[in-house]
Amino acid sequence: MKSDEGTNTSSPEACGVDERGYYGEFGGQFVPELLFPNIEELSERYLSILGDPGFEREFQGFLADYVGRPTPLYFAERLSEDLGAQIYLKREDLNHTGAHKINNAIGQALLAKRLGKTRVIAETGAGQHGVATATACARLGLQCDVYMGELDIARQAPNVKRMKMLGANVIPATSGSRTLKDATNEAMRDWIAHPVDTHYIIGSVVGPHPFPDMVARFQSVISAELQQQLTEKIGRSSPDTIVACVGGGSNAIGIFYHYLSEKQVRLVGVEAAGEGLTSGKSAATTALGRKGVLHGSMTLFMQDEDGQVEEAHSVSAGLDYPGIGPQHAHLFETGRVRFASISDEEALRAAVQLSRREGIIPALETAHALAELAKMERSQGEVIVVNLSGRGDKDMETYMAHGLGESE
Ligand SMILES: *Cc1c(COP(=O)(O)O)cnc(C)c1O
Repeated sequence: MKSDEGTNTSSPEACGVDERGYYGEFGGQFVPELLFPNIEELSERYLSILGDPGFEREFQGFLADYVGRPTPLYFAERLSEDLGAQIYLKREDLNHTGAHKINNAIGQALLAKRLGKTRVIAETGAGQHGVATATACARLGLQCDVYMGELDIARQAPNVKRMKMLGANVIPATSGSRTLKDATNEAMRDWIAHPVDTHYIIGSVVGPHPFPDMVARFQSVISAELQQQLTEKIGRSSPDTIVACVGGGSNAIGIFYHYLSEKQVRLVGVEAAGEGLTSGKSAATTALGRKGVLHGSMTLFMQDEDGQVEEAHSVSAGLDYPGIGPQHAHLFETGRVRFASISDEEALRAAVQLSRREGIIPALETAHALAELAKMERSQGEVIVVNLSGRGDKDMETYMAHGLGESE
């Protein structure tokens, strides 16, 4: 990392977004009129707050001593032998709370305080973003209300307990399918009703501008560290290839960020094919999606003939999302990032392989990125970095339910 550059470069072009909040034809601010004041306040102030040296110092301090950064860059020797390439893992699983999501939650909670807000709301599906947000709010003394579909509350009991232990209120969304999209609607309604005291922490590079750009900047610490760590380990700051899983796309943008303009670095995003691309039970947005407005931005998402959002499916809750962030849509359309998709089956197998060969149990989301390694073109000397976005503790029940505890 060049020390004068930090995490939060103040030029919006650094991450490809223009002044209007667009990445090519994707992005923008498609929100109800009642939300304009909130979005406008954020758009006008986020770059100057992120660019303030005092803010940067405080953010970096939390990342170092609270989150536990820099996360190690680990050479996976046995996996490298198995697959015939030089494979490194960026260990985001070793962050406090077990995944990359805390980088963004801390960043936005600090920003909320700078904006003079006393209360934070969030929506969560599997509960991972809810836990990260509840954690950041506990530490920074912010009231925290997390909207969660009633059905998800029942399915994700351990994370609901964590949020409550951390002092957050978990508010059930009881309308519609009682899942993530309903929780999102409720959170939007809440924000409209409380524009003055409340900040809405979105958990991935999705939503109206400036959320995708802001979240990308907070997560870009991953690639800033990677540049420095690679220089120390292999004598150059760039790998040949980077692979990351994509739900909304925040861990992927985080590890791609400082390499986007380095055209010789091959970037691969991995989506969930679920039970297969043609099964109707999938979350492979770039393969199956079309252009349209989802969650406040123009992007790609899976939709029926009438443009209605289709339900996504993946064995991993974090990838179970019918869209992708607008920057990823742009990176897909321009060909800068190649997108692949991995089935539930393939991901489960890759999770076993990493556990048995390296002694690291990955999150199911991350296992999709790992599974792509075996399928992609690669060569012996090639340096491939995989973003190990999270740890697998939360997925142990799923792993056991698929008989993966038995020795094979
Ligand atoms: C939430 C989550 C993801 C997916 O979210 P992105 O915004 O696409 O990064 C991936 N991995 C883990 C471990 C997660 O918790």
